[in-house]
Amino acid sequence: MNRPARELSATMAAAIFRGNEHITIERVPIPRVDEGEVLVRVGKTALCGSDFKLWHKGAEFTAGHEIFGRVEQPGHRLHDQRCCIYIPLHCGHCASCRRGDTQMCLEVSSLIGWNRPGGYAEYVLVPENCLLPVPDDIEDRLAPLLLDTIGTSAHAVRFAGRTVPPGEGSSVLVTGAGPVGLGVVLALQAVGYDDILVSDPNEERLDIARSFGARPHPTDDTSRLFALIVECSGAHAARNRGINVVLPGGAVVLVGENAAPWTITEDKVFRRKDFHMIRTFYFPKSDLDLNIALLRAHKNRYASLIDAEFGLDALPDAFARFAHGEYVKPLLAME
Ligand SMILES: [Zn+2]
Ligand SMILES: [Zn+2]
Repeated sequence: MNRPARELSATMAAAIFRGNEHITIERVPIPRVDEGEVLVRVGKTALCGSDFKLWHKGAEFTAGHEIFGRVEQPGHRLHDQRCCIYIPLHCGHCASCRRGDTQMCLEVSSLIGWNRPGGYAEYVLVPENCLLPVPDDIEDRLAPLLLDTIGTSAHAVRFAGRTVPPGEGSSVLVTGAGPVGLGVVLALQAVGYDDILVSDPNEERLDIARSFGARPHPTDDTSRLFALIVECSGAHAARNRGINVVLPGGAVVLVGENAAPWTITEDKVFRRKDFHMIRTFYFPKSDLDLNIALLRAHKNRYASLIDAEFGLDALPDAFARFAHGEYVKPLLAME
């Protein structure tokens, strides 16, 4: 039996990104549930560097896209299910979706937390096919890592591995040691890459990379060439350096994002070699089990990335500290 409809006046707390580095916490209506969608009570939402642009420019919808929570839909078959939220909406029947590439559906292009309200709020409304059930042995606070930190990075590694498989001579440079870059290091090791170097101007992040078994590499070094470069910073300088230092026949994988126009100079370094430039985005929904296995295998290492946890009222201040580089992967904890 379905619970009586919520009062139309029912409200919830949500963070509003107003722009100019200003966030307010306000009461907004709890979303009305439409056919095929469910309401999820947000448990933990991981903060993400990709939200910085919303912090600067303002957000049309409630931000927050690394969401874990529980379905709150009495009478629904998934009521009370612990879930992560898969943010790309997807039709399930186009050629991409049928191939399993739900992250690049040909019919719908809309992301939860970007093009519709996300998880910096008490509730988030999601299509049923965006629920990723989380097994009981994965703690609430680690569950959001299954998304960008593990999902995005592991997909990049799996996809790149088709072009530059692990093995002798498959040296890898990871540029950018944020949560995705560090996730790339662990995903590379899991599939057998053993010569992994990491560049980042931030010494503390390099220390984490070192603790994961990767070797630091100076950001301005162009003397050594690599079979595989996984670019996770989004910085144009790092992308251009990747093109410079990729070995003939190798691959530069663009995982980091940057909305500003990027200029590539077709100098002789660019012209005079065969190499692959690969872009990967998010991950196929069907990768979930593999990603859960990765999290189980390296729980302590992934857990070491979470370095702060706070409630919604503290989000405006905590987000500013995050934007100033104080945290690696902080969590908004709603309970
Ligand atoms: Zn993210
Ligand atoms: Zn589709």
